[in-house]
Amino acid sequence: MKAKIVEIFSSIQGEGPYVGERQVFARFFGCNMSCRFCDERKKTDFLEYSEEGLVEKIIAEGEATVSLTGGEPLLQADFLKAILPVLKERGLKIYLETNGVLKHALLKVMDHVDIISMDVKLPSSTGRGAYWDAHSEFLKEAVRKEVFIKSVVTPKTLLSDIEKAASLVKAVDKNIPFIIQPVSYNDNIEGIDELDTFFDSAKNMLDDVRIIPQVHKILGVK
Ligand code: SF4
Repeated sequence: MKAKIVEIFSSIQGEGPYVGERQVFARFFGCNMSCRFCDERKKTDFLEYSEEGLVEKIIAEGEATVSLTGGEPLLQADFLKAILPVLKERGLKIYLETNGVLKHALLKVMDHVDIISMDVKLPSSTGRGAYWDAHSEFLKEAVRKEVFIKSVVTPKTLLSDIEKAASLVKAVDKNIPFIIQPVSYNDNIEGIDELDTFFDSAKNMLDDVRIIPQVHKILGVK
């Protein structure tokens, strides 16, 4: 079995509650979505790795946590299922970054994942269709692990989408952290007038709401 990988590199985690932690990132090629703000979906180049080859490349970076990112890593769930037990045996913590709709793929790898960073896509942010039901089904499984939610907001984001996302999370567990992430275009963080309103609206339903920008873009690191 081979995996399609865009890049492997060590850096700091730039998003969410683990911001600032050093991790090795394995960026998987391809995605099942096409968010308007995405800087990954236009990439066409990838390298192919065998199971052993990818494990050794990740271990060689010398970090304690591997972030499986993309694209959408769960599109290659069968490959992940083969390598994650080996990475865990070698002492790595597994941090999965996912767009949060591929429940059946998640179930294949769930036992070997430690932390799930799950997007809830807001249609007014992505410029695409809604995934409310798929997100809800995914989160009902993901909650068995450490999970937090990340929703990207843009100047076009509607308050009603924030309310739907917070309500979806509340229906599963109101203690799940909910991160509002202002969008970055070309490494610039967009100013968003309604951030306070978005925060207050989510906080009315959930216990742990935070606004965290993409810190790696502020710092100018990968
Ligand atoms: S889900 Fe993530 S990788 Fe896929 S198109 Fe959206 S932002 Fe890009």
